[in-house]
Parts: sequence; structure tokens; C-alpha cells
Amino acid sequence: MLYTDAAVIGAGVLGCFTARALTELEISVTVIEEKEDVCTGITRANTGIIYTGCDNRPGSRKAAMCVKANREFDQLARGLDVRFSRCGSVMAAFGPRGEDVLRRKYRQGLSNGVPGLRLLSRDELAEAEPLLSRDAVLGLYAPGTGTVEPWELGIAAFENASANGALFRLNEKVIHMERSGSRFILETDRETILARTVINCAGLSADAVREMLRVPAVRIFPTGADYIVLGDSLKGQIRHVIFHEPEEKRKGLTIVPAVDGSILAGPTERSADLAPEGATCAEGLEELRKLCAEVVPDLPLTEQIRTFSALRPNPRSVQRENGRWVPVDHSIRDFLILNEDGLISLIGIKTPGLTCAAELGRFCASLAAGALSGPGRNRHFNPRRTGIPRVHEMKENDRAALIRTDPDFGEIVCQCHDVTAGEIREAIRRGAVTPDGVKRRTGAGMGVCQGCRCISRVQAMLTGMRKNAPQTDSPGHSGTEKPEERHGIY
Ligand SMILES: Cc1cc2nc3c(=O)[nH]c(=O)nc-3n(C[C@H](O)[C@H](O)[C@H](O)COP(=O)(O)OP(=O)(O)OC[C@H]3O[C@@H](n4cnc5c(N)ncnc54)[C@H](O)[C@@H]3O)c2cc1C
Repeated sequence: MLYTDAAVIGAGVLGCFTARALTELEISVTVIEEKEDVCTGITRANTGIIYTGCDNRPGSRKAAMCVKANREFDQLARGLDVRFSRCGSVMAAFGPRGEDVLRRKYRQGLSNGVPGLRLLSRDELAEAEPLLSRDAVLGLYAPGTGTVEPWELGIAAFENASANGALFRLNEKVIHMERSGSRFILETDRETILARTVINCAGLSADAVREMLRVPAVRIFPTGADYIVLGDSLKGQIRHVIFHEPEEKRKGLTIVPAVDGSILAGPTERSADLAPEGATCAEGLEELRKLCAEVVPDLPLTEQIRTFSALRPNPRSVQRENGRWVPVDHSIRDFLILNEDGLISLIGIKTPGLTCAAELGRFCASLAAGALSGPGRNRHFNPRRTGIPRVHEMKENDRAALIRTDPDFGEIVCQCHDVTAGEIREAIRRGAVTPDGVKRRTGAGMGVCQGCRCISRVQAMLTGMRKNAPQTDSPGHSGTEKPEERHGIY
């Protein structure tokens, strides 16, 4: 049996940032994740925008957290060595309804304290985004909007939480939970864990995890989303995040110049049943292509390199009717954080959950500290983490010096993104166990060939390094040297 002060269920971006914030306290922290790697759920498939807070209702938790998180994002990204592009955004209206929405968001943003907002005329819009249709009549410019690779942010938080002593149990699913006195007993498919507080960050399953202990109050009703990704040959052609505010009441288009040079178009809003989980839906992609033709008619969609889908965890209150739990509200709009006698649940955290991940993590850690009667601060907490060297972004001299000390950093494996064997080896050492895990950590396989030329080499390196790795009984790994020192093992 494993004893821990705080158990975090789920290692998406929210679980990883919660774990990181918990390691600032003098307590033991265990994260349980059912998948083989961190950040493979909602965190893997979203739009990657760091929002400013002008979309959120004044006075809401979302507005307050988003404005603060955005203000502090440069510092967070620097400390965790995560790429962050503060490219700004333009929201474009195509008629009177859209203009009203923009003016409302402008006022809302001002009241939330979002800096630098400005309304743009049609000509100013065209100057800011030359590919935008001339049918756009009004723009809202928000200089603070930015973009990240969402998994890069989550993985950085995972590594930093690990380095600060959090124990990650991967490939391990929580299947049952009960309360025994002041303790929670978590049964996983591998072991029993005793915890003094539990933070439920289980994403799409957060309602089911909560219901292991409590009667239903909120359930998640997922909807699907599709995206198209265009290759980095178009780098620089889209300068800002573009939000399209359509005239008809329907979902508009969002276009993102991603930090790796690719361009993202999406997401759609559709029924989750239109495609199996993980698959895109033909109607959704067709809708995206039509929207692109309307909003950015000269954006060459022939440069498409991949598509992907996502699931939105829409939370709705439920009540019992005729023996069934049925939704009563249309939707819960604010971040829903339940604190029920030491069980803290983040349920249905949608946009801007990625932007606010560090804030939400800190908030959950403060609730957990309350449940643990105010533990002391961890004096050894180190907020900094160094990422895997990105050799192709290095200055010539630095690159040469690195290759002299380790020739693997001179051997290119992914020709599309110039990713070296040294980077891939480091990704595997840090926890990648699949080609997808390597891809998310290094970008190998993200380029125009989508891994055709490098996947077999990546797979061979994974197999080789796994064969040579020291054998361990541990069901997961933590990334720390002696992860179990701060945890009681009975
Ligand atoms: C389409 C879409 C676009 C978005 N775009 C943006 C954006 O541009 N900007 C922004 O700020 N936010 C955005 N968001 C919101 C943001 O992506 C989410 O708030 C965030 O990623 C949620 O992370 P998570 O950790 O809660 O979920 P996840 O990443 O899904 O993590 C939950 C984890 O829990 C694990 N788990 C579940 N059950 C168990 C169990 N029983 N035992 C063990 N482990 C378990 C799962 O395997 C999973 O890894 C978007 C969301 C969606 C859906």
C-alpha cells in the first residue's frame, strides 16, 4: 500500500500543474494517470491559445484567472523553458451582429482589465492580416493573446513537479474510491493508495471519478471538434490569432499561427457521436474548409499536413427524474471547482483551462493545503525546468559545442523539423514511451511527411533504450532520482 498526503487523479495539463503547485508544500504528492504518458487527453488536442480574458464575464472566476494568468505567462513560460509566442489576436466581424459582439467584448475586456485592446477599421484589419477577407468590417485587436504547444506546457509542468518530488504512477487507473475516517482509499488497477486529500483532475472522466464518492450533481456531456493543420511552408502568412465572428448564429473559425510555424484552423462544434473518439468527421472538415474559403480565401488549404479531433468536456448540472440523471441547465459557464470534504474536483474545465492551468493548479493546491491543515512551505521547491535542447534553434557556436560533447546532437533523424538523435534520446530518457510521446516532446514526426521518414528510427531508439533500461518493479515512473523518499510505502 502506498501512503501519500495528496493524490492527484489525472496527468493532463491541470493534473500536472496541480502536482507542481502541491510540491511547493511540505507534503508527499502522488499523481495517478491511466495512460502510458502524461498529457494525452484534452491537453493533446486543443487550440493552444493563451487568452487575454476579454471573452469572460466580468466578476467570473474565469475572467479573474485568465487576466492574471495571461499577465504572468511570459514568466511562467521562461521558467519552464516552454515556447510561447505573444502574437496578439484580431477578432473580425463580418456584419452588424458581429460588430455588436466585438464592441461588447471590447467593453468587457476593458472592465476585466485587459491591456492594449483596440477596435480596428476595415483598412487597419487588412493591414494587420492581409489574407483576411475584405468582407470583414470591424476588428478587435488584443495584443496580449498568445500561443503555446499545449502538451509542451503540460509536459514541462510534469517534469518540474517530478523534479520537485511528485511521484507519477502511469499506466494506472483509479477504479474505486472510498472514505475511511480522515483518509481516502483509492483502489487502482495495480495497488491501493491511502491519501489525506484527493484532487480530481480526470478531464472527461472527472464526473465519474467524483461519483465514486458522491451522488451525481454535475455530468459531462462531450461534444466533438475537428481541426486542420497546414504546414510551416506558410510561416508568417498568418501573423495573429484570428477569431472570426460570423453573422449567423453558428461557430466561427479560429486560425492560429502555432509556435512551430504550422497553422491551425478549427475547431468545429459538433455532436461527439459523428465520429469515434480520436477520429475526425468528414462533415466537420468540410465545414472548416468552407469557413476558410469565407474568412481567409487566399489561404492555400493544399498545404494541409494533418487533421485531428478533440472532445469538449461540457459540464451540466443534473437532477434525478424517473430514475435517471438528466441535465437541468443549458451549460455551466464558469470554472467549476468543487471542494467536498477533502475531495477537490475540477469538472468540465473548458477554454481557457490551458491558459489558466498554473492558476487553477495553485488554487487547487490552496484548497488541498486547507484540507491538510496548513502544511509548511517546501524550502527546496525549484520553479525552473530546462527543456530538451532544440538544436536547430541554437546559435551556430552553441550547436557546435553541444555536438562536440555529444555527437548524437549532430545526427538529424527528423528531416522536416531537423530533430536530432540526441533530442530523441533525451525525450525517451524523460518519459516518452511511444513515437507519439517523442513527437510531442521534440516535434519529430510533426512536419510535412508526418513521420514517414523518421518513425522507424524513433521506434528503434525506443525499443533499444527500453531494452537497456534498468528493470524496476514500479508501475510508473516519476523522473526524480529517489521519488519514494517522501512517500510512506507499507
Ligand atoms: C476543443 C478544445 C479547444 C480548447 N482550446 C483551448 C485554448 O485554445 N486555450 C485554452 O486556454 N484552453 C483551451 N481548451 C481547454 C483546455 O484544453 C482544457 O481546459 C485542458 O486541456 C483540460 O486539461 P485536463 O488536465 O483537465 O484534461 P486531460 O488532458 O484530458 O487530462 C485528464 C487525464 O485524466 C486521466 N484520467 C481520467 N480518468 C482517470 C482515472 N480513473 N484514473 C487515472 N487517470 C484518469 C486521463 O487519462 C487524462 O490523461 C480547449 C478545450 C477543447 C476541448
